[in-house]
Amino acid sequence: MTDRPDEEIVLHGIAGSPGICIGKAYLVDKGGVDVVRKYRLSENRLESEKNRFRQAVQQAKEELHRILGDTPEELRDHARILESHLVLLKDKMLYGRTIEIIENEKVNADWALKKTVDRLRTMFESMADPYLKARAVDIVHVSERIMDHLTGDERVDIGKIEKRVILVARDLTPAETSQIQLEWIMGFVTARGGRTSHTSIIARSLQIPAVLGIEEATRVIHNDDIIIVDGTAGVVIVNPSEQTLLEAGNKMVLYEARRARMARESRVEARTVDGVRLEVMGNIELPEEVVSVIDYGGDGIGLYRTEFQYLARKSFPSEDEMYEKYKDVVDVMPDKPVTIRTLDINGDKAVVYGNGEYEANPALGLRAIRYCLQKPEVFKTQLRAIMRAAAHGKVRILIPMISCLEEIVATRRLIEEAAESLARENANFDPDLPLGIMIEVPSTVIMADNFAKEVDFFSIGTNDLIQYAMAIDRGNRLVAHLYSHLKPPVLRLLDIVSRAAAENDTPVYMCGEMAGDPLCTPFLVGLGIRELSMNPASIPIVKKIIRNLDSGQARAFRDKLLRQDSAEAVEGLIRSTYGDLLAEIVENGKEAEGADA
Ligand code: PEP
Ligand code: MG
Repeated sequence: MTDRPDEEIVLHGIAGSPGICIGKAYLVDKGGVDVVRKYRLSENRLESEKNRFRQAVQQAKEELHRILGDTPEELRDHARILESHLVLLKDKMLYGRTIEIIENEKVNADWALKKTVDRLRTMFESMADPYLKARAVDIVHVSERIMDHLTGDERVDIGKIEKRVILVARDLTPAETSQIQLEWIMGFVTARGGRTSHTSIIARSLQIPAVLGIEEATRVIHNDDIIIVDGTAGVVIVNPSEQTLLEAGNKMVLYEARRARMARESRVEARTVDGVRLEVMGNIELPEEVVSVIDYGGDGIGLYRTEFQYLARKSFPSEDEMYEKYKDVVDVMPDKPVTIRTLDINGDKAVVYGNGEYEANPALGLRAIRYCLQKPEVFKTQLRAIMRAAAHGKVRILIPMISCLEEIVATRRLIEEAAESLARENANFDPDLPLGIMIEVPSTVIMADNFAKEVDFFSIGTNDLIQYAMAIDRGNRLVAHLYSHLKPPVLRLLDIVSRAAAENDTPVYMCGEMAGDPLCTPFLVGLGIRELSMNPASIPIVKKIIRNLDSGQARAFRDKLLRQDSAEAVEGLIRSTYGDLLAEIVENGKEAEGADA
């Protein structure tokens, strides 16, 4: 029995990953404290409602004890957080207050809990003390655990799903996304996340359609509802009519046909009409994705995000495990560059066995190279694995989040130490790998002329560079409308980097999402960036655009674009200059997907 009419509902969100799929919804969670509803209760039901709440608290407590019992010794920091949650379960402000609200306001326990949590969260969040702020996060986590028991909701283990479904979730953690099984998961819809959140990046690499940022997704969509996910348009249709289904089916066929045509053309190299050759490479998270880079005609791997091997497990991977994963990729393309980026955890990709400390601003915290330099043994293990894999192909090392010279110097020292230890063991390795840094922190842009002398190449990570330069959390739906790589300050930062690199003959590459946006290709060619790395599916379009550009004209265009003062003006100028070309290559594609021509 259903409590709502089966009418078609259209939900708009953020286009996270292109493509269309039609299938049954599978709810990973129901929506936590954010989405509960209020019911009034008669006097005689209050006692049983309070008992229902007490029982949920008891179940949450048992669950926490069980998890604590299973937590290995080396994860003691993580265990401490869970122990603090046990105490919070019976906290007067949480427990006592919820019981009071049920009694006084005669409402359901879920609503009472939500009200309590909202109040506590606001109270704690407005406090300046980082410790108290941290308690706000703990309170939300504890209450979500209670809420899961109140609503009978349990988080599903994504890795165990064995039917073809479309995932619907409040959010997917990077650890969960990395467990997605391609043969079962057709697409996904989330309430949170933006276009450059890691959920969205992985969806694009796996070529799974995804729509993110639909706040009401977990409320409106029910398990087993038939839904259409149009990841190109950023639209989800629930309970589609016959007619809508038919149209979506046609769109799907056209989309696949276009994808196949593009893949065929993608073998041709990316050389501008005046003969400038660009390398168009693929970004990967998992070794399996290397196949799609080859399928789409990629010239190598411009970014291998290694952190995914550290997620969804209980301890650090061993050197041999990492070596095998890197060698898997190198073996598939021994003659092409494989750029292995060292560990970029924390920020939005925390591992439970990491530092265990709560950080009020993780993106500004002990992330990436900062973390690695504090854990030299963890870092050296990875460096050794990379150098050993490098013996089998053309590997480069790329360091994320560099913000000052000291970090480059310290990294070089650890690379030398790792090489010396391998030499002592007579291991088969390459001691002489090109070392590059990611340009994703504004301080590094400012110092790019100096740093260009210290490293073998730059790779611009626009996803973070925009976040740090514009003060916009890249994963926050509420500010997603402000996040754009067409903003003039972003373009000017790129200009500073490319000039500094050219003056020092240091190659400059780009591996942020901007590299795969066809709108930006003329500007990037004009900047002199000669290697672009992107989601594999974007490679064919970008290559085709490059083949139609003249690099001299692109340089003149760059100068004009840098004089614009808004993202709208930038986009307007791109369209008025290159509109016909883009229409032919990109918009034609959309037409083929069935969008309005
Ligand atoms: C970037 O920041 O642009 C980048 C490529 O790194 P990541 O998206 O993994 O943070
Ligand atoms: Mg980054």
